[in-house]
Amino acid sequence: MLLQDKVIRIAFYGLLTLLVTENSLMAETNSKAVFVWSEDYKASLGRRHVFPVIKYQQLYHIARKEGALKEEDIIEPEPLKDTGLLLVHTRSYLWRLRLLALTPLGMLNGENPVSRGILKAVRIACGGTYDACNLALKYGIAMNLAGGFHHAFANREEGFCYYNDVAIAIKKLQKEGRINKVMIIDCDVHQGNGTARIFHDDEDVFIFDIYQEDNYPMPKIEVDYAISLNSYDGITDERYLKGLAVLPDLIDKFTPELIIYLAGADPYKEDLLGGFRLTKKGLKKRDEYIIGLAKENKTPICVLLAGGYAQNTDDTLQIHLNTIKVIKGFLSTNGI
Ligand SMILES: [Zn+2]
Repeated sequence: MLLQDKVIRIAFYGLLTLLVTENSLMAETNSKAVFVWSEDYKASLGRRHVFPVIKYQQLYHIARKEGALKEEDIIEPEPLKDTGLLLVHTRSYLWRLRLLALTPLGMLNGENPVSRGILKAVRIACGGTYDACNLALKYGIAMNLAGGFHHAFANREEGFCYYNDVAIAIKKLQKEGRINKVMIIDCDVHQGNGTARIFHDDEDVFIFDIYQEDNYPMPKIEVDYAISLNSYDGITDERYLKGLAVLPDLIDKFTPELIIYLAGADPYKEDLLGGFRLTKKGLKKRDEYIIGLAKENKTPICVLLAGGYAQNTDDTLQIHLNTIKVIKGFLSTNGI
């Protein structure tokens, strides 16, 4: 009886293992989810804070409601571990954030309040950017419905950014031997000063940044290719898109293995923290152009939300939603 039991048990577990393996293989081959999002992309920065953290939840729900995203399009990210954070940030900075999160002093910081909830959410969002980069390398394109924390320095928070998700993802992928040369295309209206400082002397990371000169941050930090525009020149769709025409040449010369695109919504004409005059249509054209370039060059591209502070949050959401739709459009025509 005992022997029979054993045989039955071995057969049962063998069958189970086979089924599980088959299922995971099927999941592997059938699943082409390239949008990364988590219900934990939420935290409170305080009621009066200008950063609409709620957009991370609302964008997902609107995209689902409109049918732009289905449940099977979504991948849940893994939160980033300390070892990942330490690839970019100093140990003393991470400790400072942790200590601040335990004290009321952390919440008194008007620009970058610090709490355990905030740090947890940002850690997951950083994991999302890393996962989206991996998915981009696998399928050609992916998007994290968060990220683009380009004002975070190795040793300090700034501009609503705590951990620099872009820098962490790049350093982690390089360390794992997955990639070497990365191009960052930063189209947030504010210069990505934290990322610029982190990669200032790194020849493997090429930064293209198109930003508003007469705006935060001051001073700007040198990047490989900057398009610095003044708001008093009236930066329209046409002027902005003309500036992007240099990208094909830059991609040709640098030959990146991965592009990380910060599709900021804040060059929008009604943005509270930006001075450009771009329309939603112009921003959509920007997305189509940049993602189209990646497709032409067969270069994987990871898309991130970055900033967006329109007077009416619905406008910010619409701009981000358009980015999702542009990606969906490329995916439906055989991906990239
Ligand atoms: Zn911005």
